[in-house]
Amino acid sequence: MKKIVKWFGIMVLIIAIIGGILFFKYLYPFMKKMKETEVVQFDKDLTLITGGGGNSGILNSDSLVVVIDTKMDAAAEELHTEVMKIAGSKPILVINTHIHPDHVKGNELYKGASILAGANFGKELWRKEVGEKNLPTEWIKDRMDIRIGDDTLTILNLNKNVHTQSDVFVYLHKRKLLFGGDVVLNKQAPVMIGVANAPAYQETLDWLPTAFDIQTIVPGHGRIGGIELIDNFKTYFNDMKTAASDPSKKTELVAKYDDWNQIPFVMSPGATIASFEKADDK
Ligand SMILES: [Zn+2]
Repeated sequence: MKKIVKWFGIMVLIIAIIGGILFFKYLYPFMKKMKETEVVQFDKDLTLITGGGGNSGILNSDSLVVVIDTKMDAAAEELHTEVMKIAGSKPILVINTHIHPDHVKGNELYKGASILAGANFGKELWRKEVGEKNLPTEWIKDRMDIRIGDDTLTILNLNKNVHTQSDVFVYLHKRKLLFGGDVVLNKQAPVMIGVANAPAYQETLDWLPTAFDIQTIVPGHGRIGGIELIDNFKTYFNDMKTAASDPSKKTELVAKYDDWNQIPFVMSPGATIASFEKADDK
């Protein structure tokens, strides 16, 4: 009996040490980095604010101000203060790229505003995930085009499981700028939980440059970039697919992404490989 207690104690200690190492190596730096924000003034009417949860945009015009993703916690409050400075008494339209808290937990600050999100979520799921206070007011089934200033803004619901069940792209035609939500990330492994699946990411990333003429990409997370963000993310998925079908190449391919933001098991090359393996089993 004493022996069992001793071994049990050792096991608990080992698990605690491994957990501690993973926390300080991956989770803590990631959480710290996620809180930092940076303001990029794209042009006089378009302000981009990266970090503090998902990346956000504020698009100003004479008659309407559009906010893309509302962040979470303190960064959501900061974003809201910035939006109110720009908007004054003008109406505000909020667009959520998807349901996750880091992109929508600031919704509750926009009382009286129209809030749009992908229709496949529905109210019940939204309430469960981020609460009644952050519920959208309208749901996008397929596509919506809005004339804003001298540009046209397209909201497109992907209508299939990619990162979530209702990922939304926001595209500005004149600026040739895409808000990719978490379907396009810059130097960050995708979260592979729930309905998220690697083959659908691959398909969508292949299709995306054929659907829109893209010059600038605001990814869901990471720095703003050009079309190369899609190419880099495509290469990542192609590499992970190769690793899934040829385990001898796995170590080398996974190591290529050591400097990307990762959380073991959920947001990591390993999780992406597992998603390809699961798809192959079907
Ligand atoms: Zn996110």
